[in-house]
Amino acid sequence: MQKREKIYEGKAKIIYTTDDADLLIQYFKDDASAFDGKKKGSIREKGILNNGISSRIFLYLEEQGIKTHFIKKLSDREMLVRNLKIIPVEVVVRNVIAGSLSKRMGIAEGAPLKDTILEFYYKSDELGDPMLNEDHIRVFELATKEEVEILKDQAQKINDLLLAFLSERGIRLIDFKLEFGTNKDGIFLGDEITPDGCRLWDKETNEKMDKDRFRRDLGKIEESYQEVSRRICES
Ligand code: UDP
Repeated sequence: MQKREKIYEGKAKIIYTTDDADLLIQYFKDDASAFDGKKKGSIREKGILNNGISSRIFLYLEEQGIKTHFIKKLSDREMLVRNLKIIPVEVVVRNVIAGSLSKRMGIAEGAPLKDTILEFYYKSDELGDPMLNEDHIRVFELATKEEVEILKDQAQKINDLLLAFLSERGIRLIDFKLEFGTNKDGIFLGDEITPDGCRLWDKETNEKMDKDRFRRDLGKIEESYQEVSRRICES
């Protein structure tokens, strides 16, 4: 499958059309950004590691009955995916307090939650991804009520599956962000599942193994992505 026209270039990925209108190629770059693009950098071989990590996780989710946009890994940095109309709502799933939730509630990172929390954010770089509730999503017609129910159900199922998958590999899933899209066959999980959009802590030491190392200048950034890749892709 050959790349044709570049139709989108984001912070971490480029999307190309193919000869088949139903399929796109997702290309993973090494670029990294944080704080709404205010911090920019590059993580060596991140594109290769993230393509491998995301491919392995999508394959696992598909095996477990989750509909994803993943068709196959094409090369080091490319995966073939379904062409989806992206729903402009980011779904964040939280198992442990961290990041913006820690700030908003004034509770230290690492404190356990008595239940999983789902949050919605409007996918808008200009507005800095503001938080949404279900009324905002419905009234501004970002998604229908039925679609929101599917997003919630899928996010919970994906969380359960990923918690188990990562735990077996010595990784605690603290929180993560999902994006979904639609085509004529329904709603599919899109985008990527990588240390760029998940908080992953080592099960033994609680050491951060994700993009917080870049956001917070914690060092050992490449090494952490490599370690996540090793644990996920080599088993
Ligand atoms: N996240 C993301 N993209 C975003 C915002 C958040 O992938 O635009 C991920 C982030 O990596 C973390 C989770 O969603 O795993 C929750 O992020 P949080 O709301 O704590 O915001 P942050 O601390 O990243 O500003």
